[in-house]
Amino acid sequence: MAKEKNNQNTENQLFAKIIAHAKEYGFVFPSSEIYDGLQGVYDYGQNGVELKNNLKQLWWKAMTQCHENIVGIDAAIFMHPTTWKASGHVDSFSDPMIDNKDSKKRYRADNLIEERIEQYKQNQQLDKAYALEAKLNQCLNNNDLDGLKQIIIEENIVCAISGTANWTDVRQFNLMFSTEAGAVAEEASTIYLRPETAQGIFVNFLNVQKTSRQRIPFGIAQIGKAFRNEIVARQFIFRMREFEQMEMQFFVRPTTELEWYEKWKTLRLKFHQAIGLKPEKLRYKVHEKLAHYANAAVDIEYEFPFGFKEIEGIHSRTNFDLSRHQEFAKKKMEYYDEETKERYIPYVVETSVGADRLFLAILCNAYTEDTGIDAEGKEKNRVYLDLHPLLAPIQVAVFPLLRKEGLPEKARQVFELLRYDFRTIYEERGTIGKNYTRQDLIGTPFCLCIDHQTLQDDTLTIRYRNTTEQIRVPIAELKATLYKEINLAQFLQQLNQ
Ligand code: ATP
Repeated sequence: MAKEKNNQNTENQLFAKIIAHAKEYGFVFPSSEIYDGLQGVYDYGQNGVELKNNLKQLWWKAMTQCHENIVGIDAAIFMHPTTWKASGHVDSFSDPMIDNKDSKKRYRADNLIEERIEQYKQNQQLDKAYALEAKLNQCLNNNDLDGLKQIIIEENIVCAISGTANWTDVRQFNLMFSTEAGAVAEEASTIYLRPETAQGIFVNFLNVQKTSRQRIPFGIAQIGKAFRNEIVARQFIFRMREFEQMEMQFFVRPTTELEWYEKWKTLRLKFHQAIGLKPEKLRYKVHEKLAHYANAAVDIEYEFPFGFKEIEGIHSRTNFDLSRHQEFAKKKMEYYDEETKERYIPYVVETSVGADRLFLAILCNAYTEDTGIDAEGKEKNRVYLDLHPLLAPIQVAVFPLLRKEGLPEKARQVFELLRYDFRTIYEERGTIGKNYTRQDLIGTPFCLCIDHQTLQDDTLTIRYRNTTEQIRVPIAELKATLYKEINLAQFLQQLNQ
C-alpha cells in the first residue's frame, strides 16, 4: 500500500512538472490568468499553437490526403436547436452529479464509483471490482440515480476534502451550454454551443455526398470546437469546458459496418504510433456498456501520469443519427446505391479524438528527464521534449558560435536557405550551450551551429536533440539531410501501408 502511494506521488509530481513546463515554455496558459483563470478553459501560447496546428494538420492529411474517399467540412458551432433534440442531447446528454454537503464539492457520481472499482482492481480484489462494475452499469443503463447514491453509501465513499459521507441526492446535469439568439428578448430562441462536431457532419451528409459525387463507402472529416459544461473539469487540458475535436464519420452500407469498425480501429492506433506515442502506452478498451445507438465501441487509451485514459473513441453508430434527422427534419436522408440498386439510410462508423487531449498525451509522452552519467563520465541533468519532427513547434534552430567574425552573417544565410522549407529560427543571443538547452526544452529536433570552419569549408554541425550527438555536414547537403528526417510525404505514405 505504501509503495502504491509513493508511486502515485511521483506520478502526481511528474504531471505537475509537465503542467509547469507547458506554462513556462509557452505551450499552455490558464485562460484569463490575470483574473486567476477560468476553470476548465486554457489558452495555447506561441509554442502550443504551433504544436497543436501541426497535430491538426497531420490528422487532417491522414484523413483527407491518405483516403481518396474522405473529404472535409467546417460546419458552424451554432446549429438549429432541433438538431440537439434529434441527436438526443437535449434529453440525455447529462452526467449524474452529487455534492458533498460539508465541503460543497461537486463530483460525478459514476466517477466516484469507478475510482472505487479501480482501487479494488489494484488490490487484486477482482470479484469485488466486477460485481461493483456490474451494479454501476445497471444503474447507469436504467438511469437509476437513487441506486447510484445507494452504492456510494454502501461502499462508504467519502469526499476527498471533508472526509465525510454527507452526500446530497444524485441529480442529472445536462452538459450543454445554451445561449439566446436574436436581439429582441421575446423573440430570442435558445440555441446551444455544439457539444460535439459530429452533428454538423450528419446534417450535411447529403449536401456533401451530392456535391462531392462520393459513393458509399465514404467519409466526412471535421476539426472544430466543442463545448461541454463538465461537472468536474480537471487534469489540466484533459477535461475542458471548451475544447477541439477531430472527428470523421464514415458512411457505409448496412451489414458492412463492423468490418469498417475493425479497419478504423487499426488505422487510428497506427496514427497514434506514427506521431510518436509509445506503443506500450497505448491500448484499446472495448466498451461493455454501449450507448443506445451503437453496436460496437472502443476507446484508444493512453497511459497518462494519472493512468490509462481515453484519447479517442471509435464507434459503430448504426443509422441512428441519420434516421433521427430524417424523422425530426422530415427530410429523406437516404442514399441510392447504384451497385445494389437499393435505397437505404447509411450506417456510420465514427472516429472521434480530442485535439487537446491528444496534445496532452503528446506532451506527457515527449517530456523526458535525461539523467545518469554521460560518455565523459559527467552527470547529466537535462530535460527535453521528444517530439516528432513534424509536430515540433520549431524544426530547425540556427546559431552562430560567436556574435562576431562574420559568423552571424553566414548563419543568417543558412537560415534564409532553410526558412521556407522548414519551421526555422535564427538566434544569435546567448551562448551556444544555453541555446541548445532552450531548444531541447521546446522539443526542437535539430540545431545547427555555424563556426569558423564553416567559413573555410562550407560545412556546419547538426546537433540532434535526443542524443546530443553532433555531425558535420556540407551546407550543400543540408536540405537533403534534413528532409530525410522531416518528411511529411513519408509520414503519410507509411500510414497507408
Ligand atoms: P469522457 O468519457 O472522457 O468524458 P467521452 O466518451 O464523453 O469522453 P466523446 O464524446 O466520445 O468523449 O468525445 C470524443 C473525444 O473528445 C474524447 O475521446 C476526447 O478525446 C475528447 N473530449 C471529450 N470531452 C472532452 C473534454 N471535456 N475535454 C477535452 N477533450 C474532450
